[in-house]
Amino acid sequence: MRTAVVVGAGVAGLAAAGALARTGWSVTLLEREDRLRAGRSAVVLWPNGVRALRALGLAGGLDGISTPVPPTGIRRPDGQWLVQPGAAELESPPVVVHGEDLHDAFIAGLGDQVDVRGGIAVQSARVTRDRPAVGDGRVMFEADLVVAADGADSVVRRRLAAGTTFASAGFAAWRAVIPWYRAPQLPEELPPHGETMGAGHRFTYASLGEQGHQGHTSRGGIAWTATVPGALRPEPPAGQLALLRRWFAGWHAPVGQLLAATEADDLLQEPVGELKPLPGTFGVPAGPGGYVLVGDAAHAMPHHLAQGACLALEDVATLQAVLVNGSLAAGLQEYDRRRRNRVQRVLLQTRKAGSVLQPRGRLAALSRVNPRTLDKAAAIATEWPGPTG
Ligand SMILES: Cc1cc2nc3c(=O)[nH]c(=O)nc-3n(C[C@H](O)[C@H](O)[C@H](O)COP(=O)(O)OP(=O)(O)OC[C@H]3O[C@@H](n4cnc5c(N)ncnc54)[C@H](O)[C@@H]3O)c2cc1C
Repeated sequence: MRTAVVVGAGVAGLAAAGALARTGWSVTLLEREDRLRAGRSAVVLWPNGVRALRALGLAGGLDGISTPVPPTGIRRPDGQWLVQPGAAELESPPVVVHGEDLHDAFIAGLGDQVDVRGGIAVQSARVTRDRPAVGDGRVMFEADLVVAADGADSVVRRRLAAGTTFASAGFAAWRAVIPWYRAPQLPEELPPHGETMGAGHRFTYASLGEQGHQGHTSRGGIAWTATVPGALRPEPPAGQLALLRRWFAGWHAPVGQLLAATEADDLLQEPVGELKPLPGTFGVPAGPGGYVLVGDAAHAMPHHLAQGACLALEDVATLQAVLVNGSLAAGLQEYDRRRRNRVQRVLLQTRKAGSVLQPRGRLAALSRVNPRTLDKAAAIATEWPGPTG
């Protein structure tokens, strides 16, 4: 039986561990947190992400936990339109899913065959002609395949692609989900989701419905994301929340209401940036097997097009497809070939969207948005032929 060690239990790692286990691998999943848990956020899944979930056999219950988010347009802080809602050129609208619902789907997908080890913070990766292995300073975990799914700051990637670093884009982002029982009632004239930008600041929100409502997420609430110029804030969460309320004060409804209903514990602060340069390869042979980079460990990029988790799912669906037949080394080479152009394409569109959505300096003051640039970037980023393409 082929063996795999998966490092990191985020979207990429959970999906990879489940996919390998379901196709007959013996899998050990290492996570530095003591237990597996979902982030305090919601995830927008574009059609490419849904297609990847389907290829992984995990899209079964998606209808019950997701809410469609058709195009909303973009407003200015005073509520005036910057971009009127239009018909985006997508085969179907993206959907938004509560992070905990998605997490539950991944946990169910692990089955009972994955050996899950919490509290293991990987510190090293052995890069020799021997079998691949990672260690936490006490134990080495050896396998035919090591899957590096340990996020943007990946320890494993730093060992395999030392020249690649996570470079800040000059913004910090916050995400939160206000649980349905303390989410404000949105006025009827407001759409259930929206996007507003001004002077480099950006705020998006999406209603996840109420708990248990048919067609809505089982957990419900309202998810929002705020992006502001500057570095990560060192204040404790209560101080960060106070800053957010100040920065977005006076913005049109429901921005103020949502921030007022948010509690410090709901907040998740994250850096915004990209890997520079991309790793030279996403598949590194070692002995008869090798290492493979998936998700943010391979290609972290700003969230302007909300594609990071979707790309992670594409990675895993592709990995599953290339490992079906043939040698592991050939599979890793093929994985790199299929993912490289695709990732570069989405990165390019993300940069284009970023120059429009998060402009700096004089451009930020002008607050001009070319809707065609955004629609085109979203449409191109969403085009993915599937794991065998
Ligand atoms: C503000 C914002 C909004 C976003 N919105 C969307 C969206 O709507 N749609 C979308 O598709 N994408 C979105 N993204 C991107 C998406 O969140 C990421 O691309 C995705 O979560 C990456 O998943 P991952 O599993 O690769 O990494 P992570 O989620 O970072 O998971 C890495 C895991 O590895 C563990 N780990 C780290 N180091 C070690 C170690 N040394 N040893 C053991 N374990 C370790 C961590 O604890 C963690 O569990 C957004 C990103 C941001 C910042």
